[in-house]
Amino acid sequence: MPGRILVVDDVLPNVKLLEAKLSSEYFDVLTASDGPEALDVIEREMPDVVLLDVMMPGMDGFEVCRRIKANPRTTHLPVVMVTALSDVADRVRGIEAGADDFLTKPVVDAALFARVRSLLRLKMMMDEWRLREATSSHLGMQAPRLMNDLEATSAKILVIEDNPIDAMNFEESLDIDGNHVTRVATGAEGLERAVQDDVDLVICSLNLRDDDALRLVSQFRAHEASRHTPVLMVGEEDQTERLAKALDLGVNDYLMKPIDRNELIARVRTQIRRRRYQGLLRETYEQSVSLALIDSLTGLYNRRYLFSHLGRLMADTAERHKPLALLMIDVDHFKAVNDTHGHTIGDVVLRRITDVLQDQVRNVDLVARLGGEEFVVVLPDTPGGSALAVAERLRGNVAAVEMLGADGETFSVTISIGCAMRADEGFEQLIERADTALYQAKNAGRNRVEFASTTLAQPA
Ligand code: GH3
Ligand code: MG
Ligand code: MG
Repeated sequence: MPGRILVVDDVLPNVKLLEAKLSSEYFDVLTASDGPEALDVIEREMPDVVLLDVMMPGMDGFEVCRRIKANPRTTHLPVVMVTALSDVADRVRGIEAGADDFLTKPVVDAALFARVRSLLRLKMMMDEWRLREATSSHLGMQAPRLMNDLEATSAKILVIEDNPIDAMNFEESLDIDGNHVTRVATGAEGLERAVQDDVDLVICSLNLRDDDALRLVSQFRAHEASRHTPVLMVGEEDQTERLAKALDLGVNDYLMKPIDRNELIARVRTQIRRRRYQGLLRETYEQSVSLALIDSLTGLYNRRYLFSHLGRLMADTAERHKPLALLMIDVDHFKAVNDTHGHTIGDVVLRRITDVLQDQVRNVDLVARLGGEEFVVVLPDTPGGSALAVAERLRGNVAAVEMLGADGETFSVTISIGCAMRADEGFEQLIERADTALYQAKNAGRNRVEFASTTLAQPA
């Protein structure tokens, strides 16, 4: 896996050692010898993972980490603190500063590489969501917040542990922040729960009696519903290799027994925040997709959606040897409505017409706003006679609606409709024929339905 790793340490031999190890695994290595230089390199080179020494003169590693996480451009950049101290208090301090993990000097190769690969995967996933999010903000969606501003409360946590004492300890330690903790003793139950309950975090023992925990991890990753659920693995001190393997299989973080309560809580909060940050990015993306396809005034599908789906609807009915009708609808003298009653009432009129159209067609029919005061209704599996009847009904029902004018008096509006049946053609031609029929309806006096000829008029 290609990736750019920034190594930050004030002691040159330390930098050289890590650089050599990482280069031998074909990572691209950048270096910095103090905090300010590191921030500068990050700003310019945008690395994928930072390995950060804690004890540095001037700005220490905690402060560098805090600054990385406080910058919206780099808040998702994974940071690993490299420390000579194996003091739990320091680890907790680092995690609270936003660090993603700790490595203790001297660094063990297997642990280093597995951790870096795992964080690179995380970074790539985040990059992708952030890219989509950037498109969304282009469309006026809200910018991402900082990961550490997100609440890590009221999380659903699932503990898979068959040692009852350990299981109880987890439950008691995590019974904070309004969390909801569930315990199960087997992998099968764990999988089932995780999929059913949409849990925020799974804590799993590496040493289950009846299950291979590593296999269980692959199963978690293979299931659609649990693919993105964070998993925190718990192993013993002498199990570095297996824990490294777990990271490679997609575990998000690990802890070693004896568990320090504060470290457990800090790591759990990090995982939950990260999951929520990703959830936010995904939500914004989905909103922006619907924003791009739904007309905001009427809530109908817009032109873009219609154009991307009409061809498929035509092909589908053609394959089943069923007809398809398209109604092109335009409001009569709508400019006069705006001129007389104002734009706001004009908008209300468009919404009332939308209601009529939606009420009067089936679920399988597609109603779209083409733009301005023009609508399209697509009627699959509908022969010409029925389509004309539907069009007549729409016309009559719109004309019957009483609109409330600016002067307090009621008024009515009418629509003209052109109806065309699918032929062996593209969707543009079908629309064009319906449009020609609509034009004829306008010319023939408005408030009427015209049926299109089956072929386009040849240009003279
Ligand atoms: P015709 O019977 O020939 O269709 O006449 P018309 O006045 O309806 O047609 P024209 O195309 O001249 O005018 C359409 C008007 O629709 C002009 C435009 O200001 C108005 N319009 C377009 N979109 C909206 C909208 O979203 N809200 C409101 N209130 N008016 C709109
Ligand atoms: Mg009009
Ligand atoms: Mg018009």
